[in-house]
Amino acid sequence: MNEKINHLSEYEIRTILRAADDIIAQGGRTLLAKILKGSREKKVLQLELDQSPVYGCFRLVKLEDVIDKIDWMMDHDFLGIEYSGKLPMIVFTERGWQIESDQRADELLSEWKQWLEEGKRQPEMSYLKDRNRHMIFLFLEKIRETQDRKYIPYLLEWEKIDYKKVRAKIRATIKALEANDPIDHENVQRRKASIKEALKGSAPQDLLLKCWECGKRFTFTVGEQQFYKQKGFVHPKRCEECRARRNGDIF
Ligand SMILES: [Zn+2]
Repeated sequence: MNEKINHLSEYEIRTILRAADDIIAQGGRTLLAKILKGSREKKVLQLELDQSPVYGCFRLVKLEDVIDKIDWMMDHDFLGIEYSGKLPMIVFTERGWQIESDQRADELLSEWKQWLEEGKRQPEMSYLKDRNRHMIFLFLEKIRETQDRKYIPYLLEWEKIDYKKVRAKIRATIKALEANDPIDHENVQRRKASIKEALKGSAPQDLLLKCWECGKRFTFTVGEQQFYKQKGFVHPKRCEECRARRNGDIF
């Protein structure tokens, strides 16, 4: 347990999630720590992780302390581990992805805003294709909420290259901007409140599980949970006795 770490700040949580986004299911916690540290290591540069907007954000923090922060993120249900062969890879939990997809959509929007200010016409939109659908739809939702028609030319460019379902959503967004449709403030508030809630994280605690075999309740301790998580295992289904019996141990 990382009891020595207090609750990470919202900035730290967001920064770690943003760094993780570029190596999701492709790298482990050490690589993640190196992005945050601003490492010049070959692998970091090869994967162009020095291009991450949060590259080097924790430059002044010791590497082991950065890793502690990452572990804290895992303990509090922002990040998880999945195994690719023998290699433990960082993945988002539902909570982590909820926050990251929202801030990533914001990032895309501010990029468009900047391009428009720079007078960039007809940017190449293929970078938006094959992205996570949920995040892309959220991006469109946020464009709609700006009620700003300046985005329409970009939307038209994007519409040319994406798939049918996304195209339909782009079309609806253009229409809403043209018609100056009112903002669904309730929806915006709900989204914000749920992000705020997600940012609180979930403090690790012992869980009382029910055995699939004998129905008895058993405790799944924080320590065991950590062990399972780091191994990429799901929760145990059986109590210790039933597990031992299945493994052929004698009582
Ligand atoms: Zn049992």
